[in-house]
Amino acid sequence: MAPKDFHHPFQPYDIQQHFMEAMYDCIERGKVGIFESPTGTGKSLSLICCSLTWLREHRRKGFDEALAAVTVDDDDPAWMAEHAVGSRRREMRRMREEFEARLSVVREQENKLKERHAHGVPTRKKRRFDSDDEGSTADEDQYVLDDYDVSKDGKTPADGQNPFYSMETTKLMEDLGMLQQKRDDNSLDVSEDLKIYFCSRTHSQLSQFVRELQRVSLPPGMPPEPAMSAEVSEPLKHLTLGSRKNLCINPKVSKLGSLTAINERCMELQQTSAAVEHKCPFLPKKDNEDAVLDFRDHTLAKIRDIEDMVEVGRRLSICPYYASRTVTESAEMVTLPYPLLLQKTAREALGISLRGHIIIIDEAHNLMNAIEGIYSTHISEVQLNRARDSLLVYLQKFRNRLKGSNRVFVTQVVRVIDSLLLFVTRLLLTNTTGGTIDADELLCGKGVDQIDLAKLIRYISESKLARKVEGYASHVAQLQKTPIRNTKETQSEHDVPTLAHIQTFLMTLMNPSKEGRFFWSRESDTCILRYMLLDPAVHFQDIVHDARAVILAGGTMSPMDDYRHQLFPYLPRLVTFSCGHLIPPSNLLIRTVATDQAGPLDFSYKSRSSAMILRIGQALLDLAPLVHGGLVVFLPSYGSLEQVASCWRKEALLTKLEDIKQVFWDGRTEPAEATFKAYSHAVSTNRKGAILLSVIGGKLSEGINFSDDLGRCVVVVGLPFPNLETPEWKAKMQYLEDKARARGETTGAASREHAENVCMRAVNQAVGRVIRHKDDWAGIVLMDQRYAQKRIREKLPGWIRESFPTESPSHLRGVTKDAKRFFDGKTRS
Ligand code: SF4
Repeated sequence: MAPKDFHHPFQPYDIQQHFMEAMYDCIERGKVGIFESPTGTGKSLSLICCSLTWLREHRRKGFDEALAAVTVDDDDPAWMAEHAVGSRRREMRRMREEFEARLSVVREQENKLKERHAHGVPTRKKRRFDSDDEGSTADEDQYVLDDYDVSKDGKTPADGQNPFYSMETTKLMEDLGMLQQKRDDNSLDVSEDLKIYFCSRTHSQLSQFVRELQRVSLPPGMPPEPAMSAEVSEPLKHLTLGSRKNLCINPKVSKLGSLTAINERCMELQQTSAAVEHKCPFLPKKDNEDAVLDFRDHTLAKIRDIEDMVEVGRRLSICPYYASRTVTESAEMVTLPYPLLLQKTAREALGISLRGHIIIIDEAHNLMNAIEGIYSTHISEVQLNRARDSLLVYLQKFRNRLKGSNRVFVTQVVRVIDSLLLFVTRLLLTNTTGGTIDADELLCGKGVDQIDLAKLIRYISESKLARKVEGYASHVAQLQKTPIRNTKETQSEHDVPTLAHIQTFLMTLMNPSKEGRFFWSRESDTCILRYMLLDPAVHFQDIVHDARAVILAGGTMSPMDDYRHQLFPYLPRLVTFSCGHLIPPSNLLIRTVATDQAGPLDFSYKSRSSAMILRIGQALLDLAPLVHGGLVVFLPSYGSLEQVASCWRKEALLTKLEDIKQVFWDGRTEPAEATFKAYSHAVSTNRKGAILLSVIGGKLSEGINFSDDLGRCVVVVGLPFPNLETPEWKAKMQYLEDKARARGETTGAASREHAENVCMRAVNQAVGRVIRHKDDWAGIVLMDQRYAQKRIREKLPGWIRESFPTESPSHLRGVTKDAKRFFDGKTRS
């Protein structure tokens, strides 16, 4: 049977074809799958071609089904049935052609504009903005809280108002069709606008993905007319979604920098109470509805990244953040960053429903950490004190002007903060440095048990208390010319009102305790209260429940067991696919050094003596001269790196190493970019090459490209197990054990498995840095006897595992011999 055509821009390699076939099958069957494809194997194009081929085929099927559904009476003659089907077909084609024609016109207009621009003709007039005088001599009235309608208590935002837009904007957006109507939970009728949500971790990864999208040409989503000899292609309808921070085009707002500050300022400008001259001129309204529609067509006419969206918004004088809601419905593929997809509140803010759609999450090796990070939070004693001071100053000024229940609620906020501070003060009097906290202990201050936390949190959010209080504090500080920033806080922490941090922290107090735990730690002379989510599955389950299929993809997804147990414990079956590499077997040498002449090599924390560190150094002295170009050595932690540096220096081993190659260190405080630049320069200019000593999970382990001569050999020394003695890790392990016990599993196995998986995932990331394309070649040496264990080896990615020869030496002498043969052979060829 001929291989399936995925409309790949190049002739796909076998491994790419297998990847796409497995993924196509996963989507078709509506499953959840984990797909691993090493860097340099064209993963992005495989994801794009497979998912879009499936989508266009699905659309064609939908077209045929719509025609098949045309009904006529049984008594009607056949020609009438044919006529009805023909009319329906023509109607559907006409609608599509009109849509495509509109987009064509836009493309032509844009090309002309581009041409004019290239010839120096200005393309648009810049909107002038008055200088921002807010916050300097602004009227103090603006800081007074609006009346708070206590009768709203008990209602949720779902009772009519989207929690992310003002009431006015919610209404307006509904009128303009910019908010998706809430679907009936049982409704599955989404086939017409089925789309692919593609999500990645960083902005630059998404931009790279968008560039790849531009290379693909796809057959139309409607079957060709019988008369048409060759199939034409149909441009992809794509939308890039971003946060207000990425998309805001109002310079007075975007200059605020932090996401929370921009979000809150934007919403403030939409309030009825905001003066007309302060309202954002770019917000979609009835009178700029044309611009919103233009924005939709311009967005869909081309494949654009986030910068292009901002540019279109500026050109049409319409806010791209809000206007993009009109585009979602017609888009076939939507790209968006992790937080916008993973956080339910963010999805609601964007008005997106995942029901029935396909979700692809790229770079998913850190997905569980990302979910835990999004739903975890912390607050410091410094922030608590600052929030309390600001609230008291505010109450002193406005007490008599706060109407309704404002005064009661503000006093309650102070009382809750006092309770947290009381707890912190008691902790600081003890000799301990940290530990777990029972959530109830945090709220045992006087009268706090009388407070309805849910109501209070809603009040903080709806009243805009954080912005008002912080705004007034800044105003007073400016009048008195006193800096209000605490030196311990970063710029972004300051930009986010402290009360907003407290609100987020209070929300975690309402989470069920089985999902997460509270901790405290003493850091310098302050105390940090922390909430850590222990169960990422809870927050990912609604995505899985809603979506038609979910694909987690990454260069190194192994070991995959954690996903099965921690992210999808409720799924009976998970599709997993680990793709081989494009390089021929002769381009990779993989060996374990388990022993040297003195016995087993063990770089675990308890065996890390000076003698062991010197033996590791000696092993590198044997290997380094064989490697032409760059040798990258990964150690388990910055602590171990410092230990190694000090020991080698003392024993003059470092001098010997420096005689062989120039040595670079990724020190704890060294700027990674400068170290990498100096190392790269040495590799390309120094005939002897260079050694880079780095840390797994450190600044130079993820996202760095050690292709070709930059990484001809990577040596991983030891296993980077996390510190299992921290309260956070103890809680996580306990949680896993409790769950395993409930499943009837043996004690200790689940937590050990998880720790090993976390460790090996980090190792896999590090070793994956050196083979970056199909002609690349490198050696990978795992230096520690534990790498010889079957259990550990099975956690390596498939393409590395399969490259281990059945009989390979694990003694340093044998490995050195093999390495010499490999590197000599490569440098000769
Ligand atoms: S409406 Fe858009 S452009 Fe205006 S402030 Fe809000 S995010 Fe910025």
